[in-house]
Amino acid sequence: MDKKIEKDVINCSRCGLCMDVCPVYKAKRTETSVSRGKFLQILGLIRGDLKYDKKIAYNLDLCLSCNKCKHHCPSDIDAVKIFSYIKSLYMSPKDFFLNSAFVFELKMFILKVLSIVKRPIKVEKKGSIENVLYFRGCISKAKRNKMIFPLKIKDGNFKCCALPFYIKGRLDLYEKYKNHNLKLMEKADKVIFDCATCYDTVMNYEGVDKNKLVYFSDFYKDKKLKSKTKYKVTFHKPCHLSEEKFIEIENILKNIENIEYIKLQNPDDCCGFGGDFFSRHIKTASFLSDNKANQVINTNADIVLTTCPTCIWSLKYSLKKKASKIKVVDLSEFLYFLI
Ligand code: SF4
Ligand code: SF4
Repeated sequence: MDKKIEKDVINCSRCGLCMDVCPVYKAKRTETSVSRGKFLQILGLIRGDLKYDKKIAYNLDLCLSCNKCKHHCPSDIDAVKIFSYIKSLYMSPKDFFLNSAFVFELKMFILKVLSIVKRPIKVEKKGSIENVLYFRGCISKAKRNKMIFPLKIKDGNFKCCALPFYIKGRLDLYEKYKNHNLKLMEKADKVIFDCATCYDTVMNYEGVDKNKLVYFSDFYKDKKLKSKTKYKVTFHKPCHLSEEKFIEIENILKNIENIEYIKLQNPDDCCGFGGDFFSRHIKTASFLSDNKANQVINTNADIVLTTCPTCIWSLKYSLKKKASKIKVVDLSEFLYFLI
């Protein structure tokens, strides 16, 4: 067992502050669903009192990898890192295969085939910027050809940010994909992102030059934007969007002429999608997505904006279930058409 991981697990003071923020705990209200409870089980493994079994594997899987507990923890414990490590230690041959690059690429291919109706996109409007590469996330690859951004930028042909491998415990593949992406980044002056989750994952790559990484919303910070039509909009904050970027985006929205920005009751509440979490924990995911949809409906907005493709899916699904007419729109697309 890795000594740092062991130390972190032992360092958990059981204060329970993670319970205030963990979306899974909010839905399930069981000790085993929150990081504190999961650490107790891991401690049992470390001490040899427990054996890794299906129950422990299930409890570790019961996590949206939102990092909310990490940001809230007074001991600064990175729970997702610990869960990933434990999963990597005890992975069965079946899970090893199911979380392989082959299966992952196959899933992405199917997604691409199912998304053959691509959105009509105009891309460049005003010249281009030199040596800026676009980090196109997996879902964007399946859904559209290019980034909706008002300047011409090159597709960097990056691989997946590797978060799906990381959270499943395939740390070997995480390293492989990460190193591939870092190598490509060496050639670029800047790398631009439109997915909050990819951006956060790459920002946390060990050895990455953070100064090169740009979130698309930075471009709109000082621009005068005007909407032809009056809209009431709200914004769902993806779990992986930092508080700093969230405040910047709120300020952009507040300053658009003809746009009324209405804050969600809890913008930070998870939409419940969590990669493929929803497919294995439908009841918990539905509890969270219903809660989010209710908050969106309560704003009486015309449009809900967000910056993560899986949050878009989740919001579309949960609002449709409630027969809501509120449109779900990608923020990059929304801002592009205002400039
Ligand atoms: S907030 Fe951190 S220290 Fe407190 S119980 Fe949760 S994981 Fe442990
Ligand atoms: S990462 Fe999120 S879902 Fe997982 S234990 Fe922490 S707060 Fe809960």
